[in-house]
This record gives sequence, C-alpha cells and structure tokens, in this order.
Amino acid sequence: MRLFAAVPLPGAVREALAAAQAPLREAGWPVRWVAPESLHLTLRFFGEVEPGLAEPLGDALASAAAGTGPLPLSPLGIEAWPVGRRARLLWLALDPVPALELLVHRLESAVANLAVAPSEAAFRPHVTLGRLAHGERLPGDAAARVGRLAVPEAFLATEVVLYESRLQGGPPRYLARRSVTL
Ligand code: NAP
Repeated sequence: MRLFAAVPLPGAVREALAAAQAPLREAGWPVRWVAPESLHLTLRFFGEVEPGLAEPLGDALASAAAGTGPLPLSPLGIEAWPVGRRARLLWLALDPVPALELLVHRLESAVANLAVAPSEAAFRPHVTLGRLAHGERLPGDAAARVGRLAVPEAFLATEVVLYESRLQGGPPRYLARRSVTL
C-alpha cells in the first residue's frame, strides 16, 4: 500500500491553481498536469508499506497534528524545479512557516518507530502542478513564464490527511485513509 500524508487544498485555492495551469496546458509542453481535485501539499511520503501500517501511521499523523490549529499558508510563486534546464516539476512554492515545519518535524518523530523508509530529501513545501514527461525538457522561457503567473492568496489549511495513492497506469487515485482536523 502506497501512503503519504498531505494537506488538501481549499476549493478556492484549487480553482486559482487550475486557472494558472490553463494557459500552460494550452502551451503544449511535455508535462503531465495534476488534476485540480488532486492538488495537495505533501508533508511526508511513506512509499510502499505493509497495509497494517495504515492505522499506526494515521495515529501518528493525528498525534503530530494535535494542538496545531489551522495553518496559515502563503504561496510564494510558481516555479520550475529544480532550477535550470533539468527541471522536472512545475510547482507552487509555499512559505516554509515555522508552524508547518514543526508539524512535519512532529510527524517525523511520531513515525520514527514505525517501519517506514526515511525521508529522501529536505522538506520543501510545494504543490505540484505538473511533472515533465520522461526524458523531456521545458522550453527555455518556461521558468520566466510560470514566474509571471498569478498565485492564490494566503489561506488557512484546516485538515491533514493520510492518503493511499493507487497508481493505475494513468493519473494516480488518492484515497483518504485518515483525516485529522487542525
Ligand atoms: P505518488 O508517487 O504516489 O506520490 C504521492 C505524493 O507523494 C506526491 O505528492 C509526491 O510529491 C509525493 N512523493 C512521491 N514520491 C516522493 C519522494 N520520493 N519523496 C518525497 N515525496 C514524494 O503519486 P504521484 O506523484 O501523484 O504520481 C505517481 C506517478 O504517476 C508519477 O510518475 C506521475 O508522473 C504519474 N502520473 C501519470 C499521469 C498520466 O496521466 N499518465 C498523470 C499524473 C501522474 P510531489 O508532489 O512532490 O510529486
């Protein structure tokens, strides 16, 4: 079972991001765009785990989130990442505010005794809008073009969710396994 913890986005934020995606979709770049209903901020990717871990991981998420309260999140801008010709992702970068970093840190501590792989990279809060197709590159003006797009207003995140990701050959399906109100 493939699991990850994430912050689902309010409808207005998803709508604003869908509007930002629209002209880029029309540009015909070799990008697989994330469907608006699937846009999210990943807190921790657990990868393939034993199905029996879903419940303890949900408990870990609940204990990490306890007392956090609604999280104020501020979009910084849309970027191609990593910077330069090797960009693989188009994402909305978010301000790494202390409350968000603390939540991720508490989640890491809460799962420390569970059989999950360690995080591969430092936490860099973002919402992936699209992924480059294998072996493809963005046009040279892509970074400048996405950088000019309007981004959503700051918003409050009120929920964290343990999702199961079902890869099925096309876009993955995300199924909420545990939801926790902030
Ligand atoms: P996933 O691999 O199950 O990942 C779920 C979430 O966890 C994503 O938000 C992703 O973050 C994050 N994540 C995945 N691996 C990670 C890692 N090693 N370290 C940190 N975070 C990680 O599902 P997915 O990423 O949504 O898509 C899986 C595959 O389906 C991708 O290869 C994608 O290209 C493909 N896909 C195909 C289509 C199609 O139409 N054929 C459409 C969409 C996706 P990020 O947000 O940072 O990526």
